[in-house]
Amino acid sequence: MSTPQLERLGGYCERLRLHRVGAELSTLLEQAAKKDLSYSDFLDEVLGLEVQSKHEKHLAMRVSMARFPFHKTLEAFDWKFQPSINPKVIKELATGRFIADGENVLLLGPPGVGKTHLAVALGLRACELGLRAMFTTAAGLIATLGKALYENRLEERLKLLTQPKLLIIDEIGYIPIDRQGANLFFQLVSRRYERGSILLTSNQSVGAWGEVFGDTVIASAILDRLLNHATTVNIKGESYRLKEKRRAGLLRANAATDAPAELAATPG
Ligand code: ADP
Ligand code: MG
Repeated sequence: MSTPQLERLGGYCERLRLHRVGAELSTLLEQAAKKDLSYSDFLDEVLGLEVQSKHEKHLAMRVSMARFPFHKTLEAFDWKFQPSINPKVIKELATGRFIADGENVLLLGPPGVGKTHLAVALGLRACELGLRAMFTTAAGLIATLGKALYENRLEERLKLLTQPKLLIIDEIGYIPIDRQGANLFFQLVSRRYERGSILLTSNQSVGAWGEVFGDTVIASAILDRLLNHATTVNIKGESYRLKEKRRAGLLRANAATDAPAELAATPG
């Protein structure tokens, strides 16, 4: 192929934003000649490469916009360690149907049982499905809303928080929420009601949310909206963090205060 033609093709790729094909043009052409590809096989390879590359780029962008605290997948989750979770329920959630239907998810359980892990894994699944997700902690969310209220930009902030198809709010219940915080949280939940999914994690059962929000009336108004279309997963069991520590020999058996006696006595 002549150099002017190669340059022209490079220019076409640029104008059509076929960046990956543009970058690999000469190699693709060389290999096609070597392998004696048919016209259709060549086109298949070239367009397939660009589609794949665009998919990867968009996925990376969605994942970075979601601001996950870490990247953990469902494949990395040890289901045997947490038998109180029915894997079928989580696998159904992983299809993304709940997001398409604007339904909510509550992951409830004590510390270390994998709530954040599962929340992130489902968020990553949403990104893979081409949906926008956003991860925040309850404390971070309430601080952001409080700041927006103070700066007279609450409406703008609520709009932004309504855009992602899936909003993950981690760690409800660790820090008590004041009256203004509860009010702002209620406004957000109302705004997203039946429009976009919320996935919440909490170390407190919903019965204790009156205390978490400092007001039983507002807590029940929040729960009323959240639970109307929702999947609740109650996780019971031992902390995975403690298991890891024990395995590493950092924790003596009798030091595992929140572990059942028979597990605490397990050597190693
Ligand atoms: P929680 O949010 O419930 O406090 P995390 O999801 O943060 O707990 O889990 C604590 C750590 O243990 C994380 O590193 C997480 O990946 C890991 N973990 C928890 N449960 C499991 C599990 N069943 N299989 C694999 N890793 C787990
Ligand atoms: Mg957590």
